[in-house]
Amino acid sequence: MGAPREEVDPVCGVRVDPAKTAHKTVYGGRVYYFCCRHCKTLFERDPERYLERGSEGVPSDRSEGED
Ligand SMILES: [Zn+2]
Repeated sequence: MGAPREEVDPVCGVRVDPAKTAHKTVYGGRVYYFCCRHCKTLFERDPERYLERGSEGVPSDRSEGED
């Protein structure tokens, strides 16, 4: 099946069609797509904020000195 490739807007989580959106940017060697210019602007302002994955919540600076 020729399922259309979809990308997820890292800012708002909306699925976007890379073939249709004009809002994209390159960061860290890959392309990110956005649903609108607003999301792109937010992403470019602080990419790391939207790329953080894994544990949610406040990332602590290392665990307490477990020894
Ligand atoms: Zn968006």
